[in-house]
Amino acid sequence: MSLPLIIGGAVFVFGACLGSFLNVCILRIPIGQSIVRPPSRCAACGLRIPDFLNLPILGYFILRGRSRCCGAHLDPRYPAIEAGTAILSTTLWFLYPPQLFAVYLFLVAGLIIASGIDLDYLVIPDAITIGGVVLGICASYLVPEIQRQEDAVDAMIRSALSAAIGGGLLWAVARTASWFLQKEAMGIGDAKLLAALGAFLGWPSLPFILVVSSFIGTGVGIGILTGRKRKLGVKVPYGPYLAMAAILWLLGGNSFTSKYLFNNPIFTNR
Ligand SMILES: [Zn+2]
Repeated sequence: MSLPLIIGGAVFVFGACLGSFLNVCILRIPIGQSIVRPPSRCAACGLRIPDFLNLPILGYFILRGRSRCCGAHLDPRYPAIEAGTAILSTTLWFLYPPQLFAVYLFLVAGLIIASGIDLDYLVIPDAITIGGVVLGICASYLVPEIQRQEDAVDAMIRSALSAAIGGGLLWAVARTASWFLQKEAMGIGDAKLLAALGAFLGWPSLPFILVVSSFIGTGVGIGILTGRKRKLGVKVPYGPYLAMAAILWLLGGNSFTSKYLFNNPIFTNR
């Protein structure tokens, strides 16, 4: 087996373990529990889960989707997040040089936590969104390439500007939509999330993320309505769509956009 494949495999295993940690974050951050202690417990009966059954992805299948202690149904979301994080980590590893990989994996981890919490509680904590803006600006200083800059300070300024544009843009969209619908169409948390995405990905990513997320949202919305699981007008979380669009941007949306749509000096900034 060749070295790149072995390293890729190691990144996959690391990603699966990271996904397992993200599951813990999604469960514990909203209720204010520590994310490092206590060790995992069965959500149904509270018994401690033995470490060997805490294996990411495989644990769920070894147990056939039921907890060993009391036979409670295990949420398939856990192995799905572990497998998803593993696959995304590996893909990002092969797409980007190490320093960009580190920043993007960090961002994707934050997006998975934000999406999980948004699905469960219909809010995204400020610690993640506002924290994400601050971290994005810091990351731009450390790795200016994420803003397509060479100078660290230029990259920070561009990051901060992009955060302001992202937040302002979605805030304006949300206000307009609310005015037309005469009710709250979109949470302010979504605007803060787009600000954080701007801080990490730069403002050229924002039109892509807005357009793609609204397509995904419309598709899912139609699916939900035809499935009759929810009534029209029930609030649906928008954060996961923004997260998916941002991930699609990292997985190729950025090169596609710069190649076919924004192939001019303003957007490529070189
Ligand atoms: Zn149990």
